[in-house]
Amino acid sequence: MDTDTIHIGLSACLAGEKVRFDTGHKKSNFCMNDLAKHVEYTKFCPEVAVGLPIPRPTIRQVKVGDTIKVCRPDGTGDVGPQLTQYGKKVATEQAKNLSGFIFCAKSPSCGMERIKIYNEAGTGNTSEGVGFFAEQIMHHNPLLPCEENGRLNDMHLRENFVMRVYTFKHWQKLASEPLSLHKLTQFHAQYKYLLMAHNYQAYRDLGNLLGTYQGSDIEALADEYILGLMMALKSPASRRNNTNTLMHLQGYFKKALSKIEKQELRDAIDEYRSGLVPLYVPLTLLKHHLKVHPNSYLESQVFFNPYPNELKLRYGI
Ligand code: SF4
Repeated sequence: MDTDTIHIGLSACLAGEKVRFDTGHKKSNFCMNDLAKHVEYTKFCPEVAVGLPIPRPTIRQVKVGDTIKVCRPDGTGDVGPQLTQYGKKVATEQAKNLSGFIFCAKSPSCGMERIKIYNEAGTGNTSEGVGFFAEQIMHHNPLLPCEENGRLNDMHLRENFVMRVYTFKHWQKLASEPLSLHKLTQFHAQYKYLLMAHNYQAYRDLGNLLGTYQGSDIEALADEYILGLMMALKSPASRRNNTNTLMHLQGYFKKALSKIEKQELRDAIDEYRSGLVPLYVPLTLLKHHLKVHPNSYLESQVFFNPYPNELKLRYGI
């Protein structure tokens, strides 16, 4: 497998494959028109993989006693155990090579959350279920960035998911070679401002974890570090935290910029803070100043380019 290519798992119907119960698909324009230019998808339709035909009767999660079945509305044809077994196989074999997973929402097999669980009589439901296939993928790969197609329509969640995919891929490349404390510290330094924008406390805690480390089990340290990093990046950065981060970065150019340039940068950050312009605006200005006044430490900051600019993810946040 090419180590530079980003591989993402995808519910096959989101790719436009006609694998749904009614022979339809749920093609995701973002996945197939935008993100597809930068990643390769490995597609899965768990229901077809466990032997269900196209077309097929609908299935849903039904609670029977303490057990949840995935069966037809009349209670027959439970494929729960097969979906779990198939999910576990993908989770423990193929998913190790993935840097993210996009699931189809609301499906009793693929949905990540809030799946309807019906009572046995079919007269009511709660929305507390997790798709049987998705559950296995997430359970066995707690670091893997996962998202659903519907949630990806939210620009903040979309940006956050793609940023985590690229971060995780960066990490997977680092971890594919022998690790050292120096390598971990360098990695952490690159993520300083991105982490600050998401969770300042986590930035400090992870820095302390590495800075005070005296042991000899680098693998265990790396596991603890990456878990902390991926958890800290899970929530989108707030406008307030992004503003603070931009102001820190602005400080690097205090001496280099003219009075007018400083005012222009201050105004751009202020307009972002008040919601008048997207993050893209002050960042473009900062990147321009960085080009004119190079600084190798700042240039190494992932915050400036966490993913390809062509995705235009910072236009909408
Ligand atoms: S939601 Fe999952 S199981 Fe259902 S059609 Fe799409 S890929 Fe197949």
